[in-house]
Amino acid sequence: KTFEDCGFSAELMKAIAKQAYEKPTPIQCQSLPIVLSGRDIIGIAKTGSGKTASFVLPMIVHIMDQPELEKEEGPIGVICAPTRELAHQIYLEAKKFAKANGIRVSAVYGGMSKLDQFKELKAGCEIVVATPGRLIDMIKMKAVTMLRATYLVLDEADRMFDLGFEPQIRSIVGQIRPERQTLLFSATMPRKVEKLAREILSDPVRVTV
Ligand code: AMP
Repeated sequence: KTFEDCGFSAELMKAIAKQAYEKPTPIQCQSLPIVLSGRDIIGIAKTGSGKTASFVLPMIVHIMDQPELEKEEGPIGVICAPTRELAHQIYLEAKKFAKANGIRVSAVYGGMSKLDQFKELKAGCEIVVATPGRLIDMIKMKAVTMLRATYLVLDEADRMFDLGFEPQIRSIVGQIRPERQTLLFSATMPRKVEKLAREILSDPVRVTV
């Protein structure tokens, strides 16, 4: 399996080459074709497996495929992560591939000025990477809406549940249109995460590495 097999645009292939990613990692080999086909996925994978690119690269493709939606505002891709450290790492990985394609990425997490984040979100973005609590704060402050979102990633879902974010996750998912594509990644699948997956994913493919 190669990145060429994925049918990525020349811009995206250039960005991948720039990162010196020679070939897809095992999780990328398994998940890229599924996610690129538009299906929901449950990925059982740990950090270090290359899972971030396995949801970021198809997200770039998904956004580039959108027709211009006038009037609608807010991000098309929404990524929720348990901690500010992980959210920041995902933000950096997303930026590598987004920039060359003219896609704007915003990061929203605790420990940063709410006013600065408010202003950044108001300026507009196609991808938001967030911890659930701070994203809810920003939605309440009307800095951002989920009206345009059609691609949702829940990363390290088990850790988000451990940290008590289940209500916030459910609130965010409830604001995103049901005809979205949903990706759930988790190192483990405890019963509560399994239950959420059953409720919010549509006929998902399960991938384990
Ligand atoms: P992750 O598991 O997503 O946190 O990724 C772990 C590290 O692997 C990050 O530094 C990525 O930039 C890097 N990485 C992701 N995909 C590839 C790839 N196909 N080839 C080489 N490195 C990669």
